[in-house]
Amino acid sequence: MYPKSFEYLRAKSVDQALQYLKDNEGSRVIAGGQSLLPMLKSRLYQPTVLVDINFIPELREVKLGSNGDLRIGAMVTHYDVIENSTIRENAPILSSTAENIADVQIRNRGTIGGSICEADPSADYLPTLMALDARVVLKTTDSSREMKVEDFIQGPFETLAEDGEMLVEVIVPPSKANYRVEKYARRKADFAIASVAAIVSLSKDGKVADARIATGAQQDKPHRLREIESALKGKASKSVNLEAIIGPATEELEPLDDLHGGPEYRKHVLRGMLSRMLGDLLSGKEA
Ligand SMILES: Cc1cc2nc3c(=O)[nH]c(=O)nc-3n(C[C@H](O)[C@H](O)[C@H](O)COP(=O)(O)OP(=O)(O)OC[C@H]3O[C@@H](n4cnc5c(N)ncnc54)[C@H](O)[C@@H]3O)c2cc1C
Repeated sequence: MYPKSFEYLRAKSVDQALQYLKDNEGSRVIAGGQSLLPMLKSRLYQPTVLVDINFIPELREVKLGSNGDLRIGAMVTHYDVIENSTIRENAPILSSTAENIADVQIRNRGTIGGSICEADPSADYLPTLMALDARVVLKTTDSSREMKVEDFIQGPFETLAEDGEMLVEVIVPPSKANYRVEKYARRKADFAIASVAAIVSLSKDGKVADARIATGAQQDKPHRLREIESALKGKASKSVNLEAIIGPATEELEPLDDLHGGPEYRKHVLRGMLSRMLGDLLSGKEA
């Protein structure tokens, strides 16, 4: 099917893009177009105006803030997240996550901002950004606000972005701690049936100093597994009984049910992944 006709506006700066969004009711941003085009063609979205933000150089920048936080422009592609040395040095888990996304074509065009705004429950970045406590910067012509990715994502394909608001930057606190990030999918380039991002640091005396764990493709939105995190923190890593923690902590999950996998299957896969990944992290095996 062809998309319903729309006007196309190419923005040359963030200010111009925000002005276009403000002046045109029913407008929508186009970033890499990888998720948007199928939505347009199936007429699930019928914007009157598309505001193209591909020609705004500052949205492609990766910087280190004065406090050490990574500041990643909304238009940084999945390919850039893999290749950029500043991202890889300061948040290696994010680069590893991007390696798992789709295929080469999609990684070349798709962007971190587009993926977050799409809010797909199975998207690969979201669990990782939640485990990193990352934040998004949202702007309109006359406002700027910051919020945690965890709060921004409200449900399947639903965020707190308001009309006229654009995601301009993702702020990622640096994390060089040991990590694992994995997705389980039917084929390599598919969306996940279950995914886990886990960051665990051990103190010199072998105790769990910090644990941040998030999962995707389970419920209507990716989320942190805080019951598991608190059960691990402060424990001697060698004496943790993972099965006794993971079983009860995942009991209440009500995973998605679609053609990729039913709820019990998804939960079973998740438990297996958690057991193996956390087992490796607690034994101190480097990624
Ligand atoms: C076949 C296929 C397989 C895929 N497999 C995976 C996978 O395995 N894992 C995975 O994580 N993803 C996967 N994706 C999704 C892919 O990662 C997309 O690139 C990503 O979800 C959207 O990024 P985009 O830049 O293309 O955004 P677009 O498609 O341009 O936009 C997506 C949505 O976000 C809005 N938007 C975009 N940027 C902004 C912004 N800066 N501010 C406000 N709103 C904005 C748009 O209006 C639109 O509603 C797949 C996609 C396809 C088509």
